[in-house]
Amino acid sequence: MLDILSNGLVKTCSPSRIAVVGAGMAGLIAGNLLENSGHNVTILESDCRVGGRIKTIREELSGSLFAEAGAMRIPEEHYLTLSLIQQLGLEVKKFIQNSDGQFYIKETLFNKSNARNEIDKVGYKLTKGEVGKTADELFALAIGKVFKSFSDTFSDGCEKFDDMSLYYYLKNIVGYSNDCISLISDMLNLNGFMHTSLLDCVRDYFFINQQKNFYSIDGGMDNLPQKLEYNFRGKIKFNAKVIRIHQGDSDVRLVYHDGENQRVFDADYVILTLPFTVLRQIDISPEFSRNKMRAIRELGYCNATKIFVEFSRPFWLEQGFSAPSISDTPLRATYYPSLDNTNDHAIMLASYTWNNDSFKWEGLDGEEIGKLTRSYLEKLHGKIVNKYFVNSFAYSWLHNPHSRGAYTHFEPGQQTALSNYIGEPEGRVYFSGEHTSFKHGWVEGAVESGVKTAIELSEYIDKSFSSVQVCASN
Ligand SMILES: Cc1cc2nc3c(=O)[nH]c(=O)nc-3n(C[C@H](O)[C@H](O)[C@H](O)COP(=O)(O)OP(=O)(O)OC[C@H]3O[C@@H](n4cnc5c(N)ncnc54)[C@H](O)[C@@H]3O)c2cc1C
Repeated sequence: MLDILSNGLVKTCSPSRIAVVGAGMAGLIAGNLLENSGHNVTILESDCRVGGRIKTIREELSGSLFAEAGAMRIPEEHYLTLSLIQQLGLEVKKFIQNSDGQFYIKETLFNKSNARNEIDKVGYKLTKGEVGKTADELFALAIGKVFKSFSDTFSDGCEKFDDMSLYYYLKNIVGYSNDCISLISDMLNLNGFMHTSLLDCVRDYFFINQQKNFYSIDGGMDNLPQKLEYNFRGKIKFNAKVIRIHQGDSDVRLVYHDGENQRVFDADYVILTLPFTVLRQIDISPEFSRNKMRAIRELGYCNATKIFVEFSRPFWLEQGFSAPSISDTPLRATYYPSLDNTNDHAIMLASYTWNNDSFKWEGLDGEEIGKLTRSYLEKLHGKIVNKYFVNSFAYSWLHNPHSRGAYTHFEPGQQTALSNYIGEPEGRVYFSGEHTSFKHGWVEGAVESGVKTAIELSEYIDKSFSSVQVCASN
């Protein structure tokens, strides 16, 4: 894959009209590879920008500040994404993730290094076998068996765990007490995922907790899709919202809305990269296979909400905060930026929540969210929060009309029931995007799927052509 990503596909002997729906990372990667191999690629994008769930917010922030509403960190093992970044000449900087953060649990503030002693004091009633261990240790011990069963592809050998939620596994298979599960949920910020697929939780835990280094793109994550857009030699139609897909014997017709009018676009082949949350409301004729339609209907997505606060000084550095804090307040996780200038304005990701936890912010207006956020931050940082406060805003992915949710996260049973069908082509229609990979919720999954789909489609086109004509070697 890395070789194709760096050197491209072989030149096609049968140039075809290819429409890619979505200019997120999967669409841009697949589009670039296919266009450069000699196909005629047009990307239809419902938004007015590239990047999809890479969304860097700059408006209404002081100076060169920005906030990452979507993707913000890249684990060191995500070699496709990191080599793409390097290939495009972008710089990375360290993202502060797995070091010694602070906890605010049951009205007590303590450091991660003291967690072993504090757990007892804050009143979790643990059994003899559980006591004396940190939440990390208890969780790692519990999921060890599941983790060992993962193959390199993260798919085989897991059937026996697939029907379980994280909660079910901890309670009924490991046999942890209620207080132990609540300790894990509180201190590892897992409340939002307790009733989702055990397997997806274990995969995510591996990436977040086993990686030593994380990176972000210097100057903002949006530089990555923008560089790909700059290099793309095909066409991108913005504000082109696909509403109907009609597949005939020799082509596919896409009907899209450009904000004013309904238009059509005919292509020999189509790649759909849009999330299934959105595809669910697109008219498909004739319908795809039964299993694909089931996957589109049922695939689990999680929500995520981020609340950002701009401060006129990064006062938290003097308080010894730089690694993420976890609290049992509605903020749950707080991330601090890695800063070049420690005297100027800075943006704090005051709250990062998923599913259950993120829904608790729904229905509140921006002012109320801002007030509550400051009051919870006071518990971690004291009254100084108010002295340097400039501005706050929240971003919930449920309200983003182009994704209506954050990213794929299986419900129990979905790995076995759906995963074989999510990325399978349907005639002339191919599928790509983070949801078709096993690296759900990561840019790496989108990049990997973009490369995979481009290979799959180009091989199919060239094979179909050479079965009727001899393809000149290139
Ligand atoms: C809150 C959050 C935090 C994240 N954090 C990280 C992180 O730290 N690190 C990491 O690596 N990854 C992270 N991710 C995941 C990462 O952002 C995604 O996996 C990746 O960007 C998905 O790319 P994609 O191309 O599959 O989908 P998208 O980026 O969603 O691309 C799909 C495109 O289709 C377009 N579209 C939708 N409907 C239509 C339509 N009807 N017609 C035409 N176009 C349409 C959309 O506008 C979009 O541009 C995060 C995601 C979220 C939401």
